[in-house]
Amino acid sequence: MKTFFKALGNLFRKPVTIKYPFEQTYIPDDYRGMIGFDENLCIWCRRCEMVCPPGAIVFSQDMDGKQTYHFNRAVCIYCSECVRACPKEGAIFQTAEPAKCALKEENINNGWNALFDEALKSRADYAAEKKRLAAEKAAVLKTDDEKK
Ligand code: SF4
Ligand code: SF4
Repeated sequence: MKTFFKALGNLFRKPVTIKYPFEQTYIPDDYRGMIGFDENLCIWCRRCEMVCPPGAIVFSQDMDGKQTYHFNRAVCIYCSECVRACPKEGAIFQTAEPAKCALKEENINNGWNALFDEALKSRADYAAEKKRLAAEKAAVLKTDDEKK
């Protein structure tokens, strides 16, 4: 009988579930959502990349030394370590925006890994070129000194 009245009462009670994804679920104030980046505040120290446990951030570098930030939301585990490590407030930040599903073009097994490797290579190439130019400059200065 008790069960019958409980079932009857449930007919007039508001459902405890929501019609997700048509209705947004409750998001707490300290929710760790999407990672944001402001290149105008960044000092390009790459600490965020160094502390990121799954490797969701990588910086590439062109031959003029200009760095570019890359982030993969499908690799990110939303731990906020990058935000904590950043010495420049606001350069990298965690928003309350829920993480979205990975898109096909964010293919983490192939696309992201390839981009990651290319980014590291671009930095190595830049460093090697810088070293070569410094050695060239030192050789010219040495030759000039010897001529005197
Ligand atoms: S929140 Fe964590 S996993 Fe995501 S980019 Fe930052 S350090 Fe990496
Ligand atoms: S830790 Fe902050 S300042 Fe350094 S590269 Fe990352 S976002 Fe930029």
